[in-house]
Amino acid sequence: AVCCHGSPNGPVSTTTRSMTVMPAWVIDKYGSNEALRFTKNAGFPVINYPNEVIVRVHSAGLNPLDVRMRDGYGSASLSMKRDPLNIKSSSEFPLILGRDVSGVIMECGLDVKYFREWDEVWAAIPPWKQGSLAEFVVLSANEVSHKPKSMSHREAAAVPYAASTAWSALVNTGGLSKDNCAKKRILILGGSGGVGTFAIQMLKAWGAHVTVTCSQNAELFVRGLGADHVVDYTAGPVEEPLGALEKFDLILDNVGGDTERWALTLLKPWCGAKFVTLVTPFLQNTDRLGIADGMMQNAATVATKALKHLVKGVHYRWGFFVPSGPVLDEIREMVDAGQIRTVVEDTFCFSQVPEAFEKMEKGHARGKTVVQIS
Ligand code: NDP
Repeated sequence: AVCCHGSPNGPVSTTTRSMTVMPAWVIDKYGSNEALRFTKNAGFPVINYPNEVIVRVHSAGLNPLDVRMRDGYGSASLSMKRDPLNIKSSSEFPLILGRDVSGVIMECGLDVKYFREWDEVWAAIPPWKQGSLAEFVVLSANEVSHKPKSMSHREAAAVPYAASTAWSALVNTGGLSKDNCAKKRILILGGSGGVGTFAIQMLKAWGAHVTVTCSQNAELFVRGLGADHVVDYTAGPVEEPLGALEKFDLILDNVGGDTERWALTLLKPWCGAKFVTLVTPFLQNTDRLGIADGMMQNAATVATKALKHLVKGVHYRWGFFVPSGPVLDEIREMVDAGQIRTVVEDTFCFSQVPEAFEKMEKGHARGKTVVQIS
């Protein structure tokens, strides 16, 4: 996609306090791409807590979650998170999508110590907050991090959500770190998309041996990111060629579907090996059954599966995106050290947000999709 630069509204003053509206893409109801609406009159973000900052968005990154949220995925659970006591009469609409932001701090709450106005920052925006397809966004300072100096805003906006998810799955859930990866054998199911591309690079930087499944036409792409061994899932069932390989210490599953049926047999038994899947029914359950029953269902499902696999000597876990400025600080160091590079597949301008969603909806990602806001 061709991208046009420059804000439709011209330069913004140094203080945002007098501003009440801003340009944004919003949805007023869940649905297809027709639900996306551009407005110059979206509510201007307000600092409600002293640890919050307002960021002027230069570039926004999209994720598969944005398309699913547009369709209504997670609506009940995220509404509950937005308004736990159900005291606000207003709904979540107009809702602004977009989980990744790279931009500049325009205003800081009174308790914010680590950031100042004009700092260049990046962040992954939690799904229950208003997103980055707007000129400004308000975030907690602990969700924000200084962006890597070696990246443009466009490149930086392609990183936070997918890289934080890869980090959360590998480090928090999988127990991996730069100090314990040497010689470990890791399998990434679905290595050519947003999460996979960052997972490959992190693991290679930490010294692991990385096997990846992807389409045949993505093989050179994932090898370029460091993958040691590549299995083409379009050539037939991957469990056969994968089963012929030495067993793995950790499997990161970005694919879901029937992977759980066969993938755990590929792990080394009785030595702490883990299967971490990012494709879970967590939000579907809470949407369908309500928060209390949905959480009970989630706990029962994950406990049953964990136990079933534990008796065979392997661990079964669900992985999640976790918003964290400090994790982004660590990722920034890896970027500035040349260990992680960004893979922007497509860049759209602010007027082309529906086209960006259309592209996301087609799937087959080879990296990330970015929207230039200003
Ligand atoms: P992307 O859409 O960026 O990438 C998915 C990739 O997988 C594409 O490159 C696709 O390419 C490839 N692929 C599709 N089918 C297969 C298959 N059977 N085997 C191997 N590769 C395949 O998605 P993300 O990387 O951003 O996210 C991955 C998954 O993780 C998504 O399901 C997402 O919803 C989930 N996720 C969950 C989070 C959580 O908090 N639990 C957070 C973030 C993501 P091609 O089709 O051309 O092969």
